[in-house]
Amino acid sequence: MNDILLTPGPTPLPPQVREALGRPIIHHRTAPYRALFKRALQGMQTLLQTANPVLCLTSSGTGAMEAAVVNLLSPGDEAIVLLGGKFAERWEKLCKAYGIAAAAVPVAYGEAVDPKAVDAALAAHPKAKAVFATLCETSTGVVHDLQALAALTRKSQAVLVVDAISGFLADECRTDAWGVDVVVTGSQKGLMLPPGLAFISLNERAWALAEQAKTPRFYTDLRLYRKSLADDDTPFTSAVSTVAALDEAVKLLLQAGVDQTVARCARMAAAARAGVEALGLGLFAKRPSNGVTAVSVPAGVDGKQLTKLMYDRSRVMVAGGQGEMAGKLFRFAHMGYISPDDVVAGLAALELALAELGHQFTAGASVKAARTALGPATAGAGR
Ligand SMILES: *Cc1c(COP(=O)(O)O)cnc(C)c1O
Repeated sequence: MNDILLTPGPTPLPPQVREALGRPIIHHRTAPYRALFKRALQGMQTLLQTANPVLCLTSSGTGAMEAAVVNLLSPGDEAIVLLGGKFAERWEKLCKAYGIAAAAVPVAYGEAVDPKAVDAALAAHPKAKAVFATLCETSTGVVHDLQALAALTRKSQAVLVVDAISGFLADECRTDAWGVDVVVTGSQKGLMLPPGLAFISLNERAWALAEQAKTPRFYTDLRLYRKSLADDDTPFTSAVSTVAALDEAVKLLLQAGVDQTVARCARMAAAARAGVEALGLGLFAKRPSNGVTAVSVPAGVDGKQLTKLMYDRSRVMVAGGQGEMAGKLFRFAHMGYISPDDVVAGLAALELALAELGHQFTAGASVKAARTALGPATAGAGR
């Protein structure tokens, strides 16, 4: 039996992607590879809804987050970090590691950042050069109001840097239209690829900062990546097989369309939410993302045992809570190559585990509610 990954990364791989990963390798400094690399990254521009070049790093998503910090800022610079979960806190840790004075805008776990608080932080820190934000806060299942945050930041001298690692292709992210200056994403979530690639795109405002920043950097020096990109190349060895897989994933996503893929993800999210609520479980996020549903573990149930049982009994993998949310919530993801049947299988596995742990509910209620919420099929990449 195959594992069903209902986790916010890694996510399942389409057959076209798996086929590309198994192809004979080609050299990265050849015309066929350059053509493939160029096509894939141009496709990424369309998917990220930006006219600016998209740079590809061989790293997990955090590598591109780190690249953003070291390329935009210098030690002693001020920045603003919008909190609210474990991933937002990563921005704060990265700033600390590089001697950036990060002013935090606190946000309670489960809530979205209040644009008024961001306005106040910008007024209090007029010298801040960057605002670090998160599209989907994967640890709480919250999607922040990126459009509002971008509009506010635009009125200041600061650039808006967004971690869209899990939000990309699940939640709306109109990079250029909304005025997002820097967008970061990774391969193993909505993009339907294995872990190993990270992407970052900067607009002119952000490149101006990158030209002046004095933080030491080498592998993550984005100026090198931009220069190589002119020859459809990378400064260091490209992750050839994963990029070949990227080319396939991009093709599938362009065929489906970004808006349709986001809409499809929203439909999966609605089904998952209807399902867990039918079992009497509460949703943790006040402003839920389409990519991941964070569910409060009911009283009397051990959250760690619940997720372990779902895997042991049904081979359905969901994610537990992180940090202080460990054991208190679990996260049911539905981003990327996930089908309605996968969501239903996840709910059936949840019912089986909950029954074993003594939680009272009407058997089959979640599956029925999810099927009702799913309604007739819609288009969008995914199976
Ligand atoms: C997964 C994730 C990351 C981290 O990505 P890695 O690939 O593990 O480095 C960062 N931010 C968010 C919001 C994520 O969901």
